[in-house]
Amino acid sequence: MSYTVFARKYRPQTFEEIVGQDHIVRTLKNAIAQNRLAQAYLFVGPRGTGKTSSARIFAKALNCVNGPTPTPCGVCALCQEIADGNSLNVMEFDAASNTQVDKIREIIIENVRYMPTGGAKYKLYIVDEVHMLSTSSFNALLKTLEEPPAHVKFVFATTDVQKVPSTIISRCQRFDLRRIPRAEIARHLLYIAGKENLTLAAAAADTIARGAEGGLRDAESMLDQLVAFCGNEISEENVLDVFGFTGQETVAGLCESVMGGASAEALQVIYGQSEAGKDLSRLMGDLIVHLRNLLVVQHDPRGMADELSAEATAALLEQSGRISTGQLLELIEQFAQAEGRMKWAANKKMHMEIAVIRAIQTLGQVTLTEVLETLTALRGGGALPEKREVKSAGVKVVAPRPVAAKVEVEAGRVEVVRGSLVAAAKAEMAAQSAAPAKVEAKAEVEVEAKVEAKVEAKVEAKVEMPPPVVVAKVELVEDLVLQEVPEVAVDLGVPALGDIWLRFVEAVRRNRPFIAGYVETGQLIDLSNGMATIAFPPDGTLPMSYCERSPNKEYIVELFSQLVGKPTGLKCVKKEGLIVEKIAPSEVKVEVAVDPLIAFKDDPLIRKALEIFQAEIIAN
Ligand SMILES: [Zn+2]
Repeated sequence: MSYTVFARKYRPQTFEEIVGQDHIVRTLKNAIAQNRLAQAYLFVGPRGTGKTSSARIFAKALNCVNGPTPTPCGVCALCQEIADGNSLNVMEFDAASNTQVDKIREIIIENVRYMPTGGAKYKLYIVDEVHMLSTSSFNALLKTLEEPPAHVKFVFATTDVQKVPSTIISRCQRFDLRRIPRAEIARHLLYIAGKENLTLAAAAADTIARGAEGGLRDAESMLDQLVAFCGNEISEENVLDVFGFTGQETVAGLCESVMGGASAEALQVIYGQSEAGKDLSRLMGDLIVHLRNLLVVQHDPRGMADELSAEATAALLEQSGRISTGQLLELIEQFAQAEGRMKWAANKKMHMEIAVIRAIQTLGQVTLTEVLETLTALRGGGALPEKREVKSAGVKVVAPRPVAAKVEVEAGRVEVVRGSLVAAAKAEMAAQSAAPAKVEAKAEVEVEAKVEAKVEAKVEAKVEMPPPVVVAKVELVEDLVLQEVPEVAVDLGVPALGDIWLRFVEAVRRNRPFIAGYVETGQLIDLSNGMATIAFPPDGTLPMSYCERSPNKEYIVELFSQLVGKPTGLKCVKKEGLIVEKIAPSEVKVEVAVDPLIAFKDDPLIRKALEIFQAEIIAN
């Protein structure tokens, strides 16, 4: 007995056998039953979804001896002829084969006037891939379509409806065939396996269905191939091996690594799959589909019921709860671009690796929406979003030491190469040591992200200053040796202590009422040498510690710098017999000329947001 491929052997012969196109089947059956037939039908859909099969069954339904009937017998001569493809009344053309383009025109125009033969009621013209017809063919067809004889029906099929002229589309009844759901394809494969005495694992059937991407014919061809390779027992492993697919678990695991910022693990998966000879383009495609599935279950938990088992859906749901919609969309966008690049690239692995690392980096970034949400939550006193883990590709950032100690460069200017944590750290060190000695800056500096923000702020404050005299340029040099920087004294005329203290306290009361109470138990006793010294009584350990801790200290330092007009550090001391002057609550608004940028950075909300996101303000 000759071998027939499954796609042919199990080609549907009745409307009931068509897989996954219930909406079309129902409409066609109703139309036939009520004898409300259109002159022309247009079946639109991806390859292998049943367009031609539907057209042939439709032909049988019309021409069967019992017809027109929604249930053609399949055994009469007319039905048999159609099933065998040699009916004189049903003509099939494939417009994709060039040689037939002109033939189609001639045959159709010449033949439509002749009546059907052999007792059939209709002449049917089935044109596959109709969008491939030439313009002249379309024009000729159009004339016939406008006034077709009553015994003529057209059925057009296309995978690319965009290329079909609208004049043709408007004269057809259009049906859109959908990609067949994974579960239905898998079920159909298991049905075939049962008929053929094959042992096909359910997971194997599912994996084939996933690979077929909604095309039943593709799935059947794959099953053919598997039987040829593996014989009568087919496991999921076989499917993965033969077609170079990556297992669903591996795909989910790769996604997990990306979400968790585990770049080493993610790269390991890519390496492993590449070594195992898997198709990386396919893996990228699978990863995108996985992200899309996460997106779907995020918005409709039952949306995947058609395609996945309850177990798989639950796993998806769990994973989707840990990533935002915005992030998913961003990842899909990035991976889709990478997939496009991979198509033509010689080194697919490299493109995949880059894409994955970029994705991890993207997830570490904070979106504007998140910032806004957080700010809104802060203003409304609502719950804050969870503090994010900083997931940068390499640098682990920890806080080494307090910040304000660094503002010692007076009248000097430090240029920071922006955007680099290490450079910012070096700028800080430069600032600290810009005075006399030669200092070697260590290459590896660990700084908290917050510190960076501070350094930026400081630098800008300095730029405000009168003519910069010394330039200590900081660059990304491995072992940085700093130049000797002569100190330049700039006398800006320091106002009286009492006046400064009064304005200071009032500004604190206004902007930081929480620490005002502590600050006021102290007294400004010195402002020389770029250092504000606040004295506290001997029992003032608590208020002192409040003033010295971050971010209060930075606030105080900046406020003093503004009031004095030059960078001013902070020193807190305890002093026996200290007399603290009470400052009465004042209604008069003390105008502290504050740089808008500093005021912005000083805003408690902005500060909090910077802290939460471990961020820095980059733009001026
Ligand atoms: Zn029949």
